[in-house]
Amino acid sequence: MSQQQYTQAGGNGAVSGDGGARESALFPTYARYPISLVKGEGSWLWDDKGNKYLDFMCGLAVTNLGHAPRKVAEKLKQQIDELWHVSNLFHIPGQERAAALLTANSCADAVFFCNSGAEANEAAIKLARKYQQKVKGSGRYEIITFNQSFHGRTLATLTATGQDKVKEGFQPLPAGFRHVPLNDKAALAEAVNDSTAAIMIEMIQAEGGVHPVEPAFVQYISELCREQGILLIIDEIQTGMGRTGKLFAYEHYGIEPDIFTVAKGVGSGFSVGAMLGKGYLREAFTAGSHGSTFGGTPLAMAAVNATVEVIVEEKLAERAAKSGEYLMQQLKASLKDIPFVQEIRGKGLMIGIECAAPVNDIVLAGQQKGLLFVTAGPTVIRLLPNLYVSKDEIDQAVSMLTALIQEHTAVHQA
Ligand SMILES: *Cc1c(COP(=O)(O)O)cnc(C)c1O
Repeated sequence: MSQQQYTQAGGNGAVSGDGGARESALFPTYARYPISLVKGEGSWLWDDKGNKYLDFMCGLAVTNLGHAPRKVAEKLKQQIDELWHVSNLFHIPGQERAAALLTANSCADAVFFCNSGAEANEAAIKLARKYQQKVKGSGRYEIITFNQSFHGRTLATLTATGQDKVKEGFQPLPAGFRHVPLNDKAALAEAVNDSTAAIMIEMIQAEGGVHPVEPAFVQYISELCREQGILLIIDEIQTGMGRTGKLFAYEHYGIEPDIFTVAKGVGSGFSVGAMLGKGYLREAFTAGSHGSTFGGTPLAMAAVNATVEVIVEEKLAERAAKSGEYLMQQLKASLKDIPFVQEIRGKGLMIGIECAAPVNDIVLAGQQKGLLFVTAGPTVIRLLPNLYVSKDEIDQAVSMLTALIQEHTAVHQA
């Protein structure tokens, strides 16, 4: 890519923070905003020029406890002085503790730790195939996922993803994936066949535009899976860890998946992923079947243990449900007379505002005014504040966002 193209893709083209206009030595896989964030505390971030921002994106649902949460920081600092890494060839007490904590607070019985969301989904796909083929002795290998879903960027998980833009140029893609429209029972029934190993779904399609799945459709999938011996995999990577008002979003629907995956919020920003499953799946993941050098290191587990303890003990999922209701109410009241705003949807502290036209300019204007949020597809504004967000911070964000949308629509009508 030329410097000029880089400039367009990367906003100002300069490497913010070094004061110069040299071309970055990074692959330009991100069209980065021209801001370098260097410090964070709670709901607030500061850039290298001292500007302050109210963070309503949380690294995309990662820093659910806010920035530099004290209890997690203390545990990490202690662990840094004790032990960082040992091989998974040894018992790792922190990993046992984290697995016990996660299974005690979910429908799962066993956990595999890895380092990212894509890896957690990759593990889920491998486990589903292996269980169906080795344990059940069936020929089942196919995974059904949904249009507009997002499951990651490895070859298998981008193939599972129901969006063409992540697949372009990466063919040939692995075989064994099939996509159907969300909330369409007939299409799903037609897609299921003798090869179906698993159905993989997000309870709220996050990257795909903040679309909650219809409860009746979730019930239908759950029954279909049980009747036909198909595994149900729920991708909780963005919806998990209290984000939607429950510790895991599947709890809203009164169902239990065979497998679910977490990552973003589970380490408060430390890179950790986990694949969790029912006890009968243990048989498929025996010694040598899967692994990861960095999966579940003592350092990562210090972050997970502290994070999960805080979320559970402080009942942060319930807090997110209440704050989310308040945020939703305030947004609906404040934006109700703006025709540009078409729908406000979501659960807990994952909220999408569907607009009549692309919203990227509003995101950029927000950054200049000191409010950080993201899109979910071209026309949806996505809000993901941390689980501790205060009433006052919500009020500030709603009033800033209202002004931003009003200014945007005024400019575009003029
Ligand atoms: C972010 C995300 C992933 C991928 O996670 P990475 O850590 O970026 O690999 C997968 N599924 C969902 C629902 C996500 O939001």
